[in-house]
Order: sequence, then structure tokens, then C-alpha cells
Amino acid sequence: MGVSRRSFLRRSAGVAAAAAGVLARVHARQPRPPLKAKVLVVGGGFAGSACALALRHLHPALNVTLVDPDDRYVTCPMSNSVLVGLRDLESITVTRRGLEHAGVTYVHDRVSSIDTGLRRALLAGGALLAYDRLVVAPGIRLRWGMPEGYDEAAALIMPHAWQAGPQTQILAAQLRAMRDGGVVAISVPAGPMRCPPGPFERASLIAGFLRVNKPRAKVLIFDANNHFPKQDTFTDAWHVLYPGMIEWIPVTEDGAVVRVAPAAMTLYTAHAAHRIDVANIIPPQAPGVLAVQTGLASDHGWCPIKPQTFESSSVDGVHVIGDACIADPMPKSASAASAQAKQCARAIVALLEGSEVPAPYYDSVCYSLLEPRKGLSIHGRFRVAEGLIQQVRGSEDAAPATAAQEARNADHWFRRIVQDSFGRATFASS
Ligand SMILES: Cc1cc2nc3c(=O)[nH]c(=O)nc-3n(C[C@H](O)[C@H](O)[C@H](O)COP(=O)(O)OP(=O)(O)OC[C@H]3O[C@@H](n4cnc5c(N)ncnc54)[C@H](O)[C@@H]3O)c2cc1C
Repeated sequence: MGVSRRSFLRRSAGVAAAAAGVLARVHARQPRPPLKAKVLVVGGGFAGSACALALRHLHPALNVTLVDPDDRYVTCPMSNSVLVGLRDLESITVTRRGLEHAGVTYVHDRVSSIDTGLRRALLAGGALLAYDRLVVAPGIRLRWGMPEGYDEAAALIMPHAWQAGPQTQILAAQLRAMRDGGVVAISVPAGPMRCPPGPFERASLIAGFLRVNKPRAKVLIFDANNHFPKQDTFTDAWHVLYPGMIEWIPVTEDGAVVRVAPAAMTLYTAHAAHRIDVANIIPPQAPGVLAVQTGLASDHGWCPIKPQTFESSSVDGVHVIGDACIADPMPKSASAASAQAKQCARAIVALLEGSEVPAPYYDSVCYSLLEPRKGLSIHGRFRVAEGLIQQVRGSEDAAPATAAQEARNADHWFRRIVQDSFGRATFASS
């Protein structure tokens, strides 16, 4: 089934969808004049891909090019399920076929630098790409050296699995190989971080796997924070599903891991050393390095944007979306990245046409599995007021759903957001 511009826009959530639907109907009645502008999108994750796709749907005459070094993208959403054998990696791997089918030119390369004055990007392969508008969506980079001793070599022994792919497979293999009675540690960094509830979904699914396969094993969560999303719901579920198996150690109880010794499989907190069987170290994060090199990041490390257009506050003609940008209180999630991408696309078309940028309205939902058939969700709706992104009061209170429904909703959400972001028939396994 083809994804028409109309049906694509219909899937945009909430009021944004309604607004976009009106836009689409207007467009359907009045043929658009050709828009000869070139839009270059750097990074083909949820943010970049969704933006490229939305640009093509909004204005089929636009010349949209997307550059990413990986022609297959492994989604982080659902990668925790891969860790414990509920899915395989192929089922969360997408190709660039859907984007190309929608008329996006996909370039299999890495952008090595951007000349924002001359408006062109240099690719690692040597090509130069000129643009009228640039979208930078490089996701995160891991801040190696934090905790002390945690570098790329250490990550082969103590995987982070915070960028899905080979790291997911290493951690999955370690969990399978671990002895019964072993200890799995998850180290959570201080925020801001990608997917704040992700470590706690991970702890839940790992405990579910251990309960069946290694019932004497334990999960320790070392946390550099003092609170985590949906804490009460998670902890209540752990008491019922995994009594005595998961222990959360907050920063105030010496929970921050400050150093790792991979050869000795030991984690150090300020006051203790912990011998561990499987160590999942999630290091602190920052935007992809290209964003920093291009002058898009602030002193705080992330990239400030204008919340209506996602245009960089620092560099004209450049938009930053997804995990790399500062869009608080929106979380760093695929759901938020996709909502930002669609608004950014609407804004770019309006800016190129010289028309008014439509008012944004962002929806986000994050699902976490507590066990294979039980889940929870975190909702948020956001609007721009007084120049800031603000959460709409009460928007976190979603319609009540049972844990079993939440798990089914998670599955539907995943299929929908992948199609929304990467186009149709895009799973590597399809
Ligand atoms: C375990 C886990 C579970 C998660 N679960 C959920 C969930 O259930 N729901 C949810 O909403 N979110 C979830 N997330 C968060 C979600 O994965 C991220 O928020 C999302 O991937 C951000 O999208 P992005 O496009 O900004 O970055 P990314 O997805 O990281 O994409 C960035 C892309 O940019 C490319 N790139 C980088 N530098 C360059 C360059 N110089 N040139 C060209 N290309 C470049 C990279 O190759 C990559 O493809 C989860 C995350 C994790 C770790």
C-alpha cells in the first residue's frame, strides 16, 4: 500500500495531525509551484529520516538529500527486547528503501565538515554537497573516559548497548553466557540522556530473562541520579514480578559509578568496589561530534534551537532536531525526534515559500516493557509559549490502559513510527 501525502499527514499525532491534514487538503486543491530549493539532511536516524520523508510529502518538488554512513539503521526502540531474545536484530533493522521510494536521494557517506557560510557540506568520500537549508540530526555521541577507564576497548567487555547494533549483540551474548547466581550491573549516567526510562525497561526485561533462565541471579542498577521516570510504577511491578531480583542504588546511596576496571570486571563508586559478572555501562552523552564542530552546540554541550522551527539559535539556515538538540521538556526519544522532524519540515517549507510557519504542537509517547506482555507508557504533549517549549498540563495522564494493553500498544507504536520515519516496507526482514 502506498503512503500518500494525505495518509502520511493523517498519522501525525493530535492537533499537529489535524493542522497538517488541513494543510494537505489545501495542497491537494492547489498545485504547488515548483520549489527548486535543496535541503540537505545529515543523519538518517528517526529525526533525520522523518524530516526528509516529511519534506518530500509536504512538497514533492523539493530536492531532498539525506547522508548517513549506514545503509541499514538499527533502532534503539525494541533493542532491549533483542537483549533477552524476545526479538532478533533483523526485526529492528531498517533499510533506506522507503526513503528512496519517497524520492529522497540517499547518500551512503559521512559528512565530515560543513561550511555554513558557503552553505555546503564536505563528505568523507570527498564530494561537496550544496544546500539552501540544512538539517543536522546526528544523534548522540558517547563521552568516552566517563566513568574513568571507560573507552571503546572497555565497551567490548562492558558494553553500553546505547547505540543499537553490535553492542546489543555483545550484551545479549554475555547475558546468555552468565552463570546462574551472577550479578548484572547497569550503570545509569547523570542526564540529559537518550531515553531516560530505557535503563529501567532494560533492568525489567533482563530480570524477566534471568527469572526463567538463571533464577539465582540479580540485577543492580547503579544510578547517578536520585529519581527515574515512572519510578513508582516500575518499582511496584518489580516487587510483584521479580521479588528480590532488582536493586536500585541512587546517587545519594553511592550509586554513581566513577571508575571501571574491565579486566577485573569491577566497578568503583565513591566508597566501594563491586565485582560484577555482566556490566552494562551507559556513559554520559553529548550531541554527535559534527554538531559541535559546526558551532551548533552551546557551552552546556547540546544544541539550542528556536522551538517553532528548530532552526539553530547560533547558525542561520541550519536546523537541529532529535537527540542532539535542546528541546526540554521533551525527552530525548524517537517519538519526540519524529514530532520535531515533522514540525521542522513544515517550517522549512514555509520559510522557503515565504509563508507563515505553522504553530507547532508536539506529542510524544515512550513505551517500556516490564516483561514480554506487560508494559507502561509515558505521554507528553507540548506547545510553544513565550518562546519556550512547554508541556501541556495534564498531558502525561493518558487514557488508562492495562499493562497488557500497553505492551500491545508498544508493538503497534513501534511499527507505526518506523513507517512514519523511514517509509513503507522498510524493515530489513520484509
Ligand atoms: C535502549 C534504548 C531504547 C529506546 N527506546 C525508545 C522507545 O521505546 N521509544 C522512544 O521514543 N525512544 C526510544 N529510545 C530513544 C531513541 O532511540 C532516540 O531518541 C532516537 O534514536 C533519536 O533519534 P536521532 O535521529 O536524533 O538519533 P539517532 O537515531 O542516533 O540517529 C543519528 C544518525 O545520524 C548519523 N550520523 C551521525 N553523524 C553523522 C555524520 N557526520 N554524517 C552523516 N550521518 C551521521 C548516524 O549514523 C545515525 O544514523 C531508546 C533508546 C535506547 C538507547
